Amino acid sequence: MSMVRSRRFSTILLSLGVSSALALSACATTDGATTAAEVTPAASVSAEINANDFPVDVVESTHPAKDAPAEGELRVTLLGTGSPVPSTERFGFSILVQAGDMNYLVDAGRGAVIRLTQAGVEAGELDGLILTHYHSDHVLSVDDLWMTGYVPAFGGRDGGDFMVYGPEGVGTIVDNLYAAFENDRQVRAADGELDLETTGIAWEEFTEEGVVLDRDGLTVTMFDVQHDPANVILPSQGYRIDYGEHSVLISGDTIPHPNVVEHGKNVDLLIHEVAAFQDPDVLPQVISHHTTPEQAGEIFRDANPGMAVYTHFVNGIPGKVEGVSDEEMISRTKENFDGEVVLGEDLMVFTIGDDGVEVLDQQALSER
Ligand SMILES: [Zn+2]
Ligand SMILES: [Zn+2]
Repeated sequence: MSMVRSRRFSTILLSLGVSSALALSACATTDGATTAAEVTPAASVSAEINANDFPVDVVESTHPAKDAPAEGELRVTLLGTGSPVPSTERFGFSILVQAGDMNYLVDAGRGAVIRLTQAGVEAGELDGLILTHYHSDHVLSVDDLWMTGYVPAFGGRDGGDFMVYGPEGVGTIVDNLYAAFENDRQVRAADGELDLETTGIAWEEFTEEGVVLDRDGLTVTMFDVQHDPANVILPSQGYRIDYGEHSVLISGDTIPHPNVVEHGKNVDLLIHEVAAFQDPDVLPQVISHHTTPEQAGEIFRDANPGMAVYTHFVNGIPGKVEGVSDEEMISRTKENFDGEVVLGEDLMVFTIGDDGVEVLDQQALSER
C-alpha cells in the first residue's frame, strides 16, 4: 500500500481576485524539496462567488461530484469547511470521498445535506458516513443524512441501512438517534410514503488503529490524533484513504500530531484543520485545541504532500473575536513551509489522477 512516487505533479485551478482562473503547478520530490512551487493564491471565501450561489438541486448541479470519477481516480469534495461557528459561507465540517461508484462521507457537520445536494449527490446515494470524533460540529447532520436519504421523493435510497462508521461511541449516537426519530419513520410508513424496511440505520465501530474499511480497492486507515493538551477529548481520529496509487489524508480535529506526519508522508492530498485568531491570547482554550498555521506549516514540511489544504477554519467569531485574513493564514504557514497551501472552500473539489491533483475552487466551478 506504499504511495511513494518519485515525482508528483499537481495542477491547480484557483481564482485570484477578479481575474480568471489560472493554471498553476507544483511538484514535490520525495527528498522533501519542493522544486517548482509558483505563486500561492489565496482561495478566498470573500471572493465574489460563494457556495450559496450554487443551486440546491441535484438535477441542475454542474458539480463534478454529480458523476462518478473516471476509472482509477480518487475525488475529494469539501462540503463544509467551517467549525462550530454558525456560518452560511462555511458550513459544518464534512468531506465527500468518491472512487469508482462509491460515495463516502467523512463527518457530518451542519448543513451537509445541502452541500451534498449542491454537489449533485443525493443523501440516499451514500455508501456510508465515517466519523472522526463526536463534537457537535462533526455529527449534527447524521440524522439529516439518514432521514433525508430514506424519503423517496428526494433521498434516493431504495433500501439497505444507512451505514455510520466511527471509533468507540458511534453506536451510542446511532442507537439514540434511531430512538429519537422513531415518530418520523412510523408516520411516514403509516402515511404510505415509504416502507419501514427502507428506513434503517446501522453502525460499525472501529476498535483500533489501522485499516478499518477495505472495499473495491478503497482502503480507509484510521489513526489516533489528539484534540486537546490533556487528551480528554476521546476518541479523536484521523483517516488516510487510499485508492490505487492515489491518497488523501484527513487530519480530523487535532493539535499537531506525529501520526499526521507519519501517515501523511508523500500523500497526494493532505487536508488539515487550522485555527488562527488575530490575538492568540483571546480564547486560549480554543486555540490550544487546534493547530495554528505555523504548526501546520511544520507538518506540511515534514509530510511533503503533493498538495496541502486547509479546512475546518477556526478563524474568529463574528462580533466577538477577530480572525485573520487569507493572506495572513498563508504567510503564517509559510514561515515553516515553502510549498503551495490551498485554503479550502465549501464545494471545492480535488480530483486525484495519474497526472496529479486537479482543483476546482468556487470561481472555477461557477464557470463550468
Ligand atoms: Zn472537535
Ligand atoms: Zn470540529
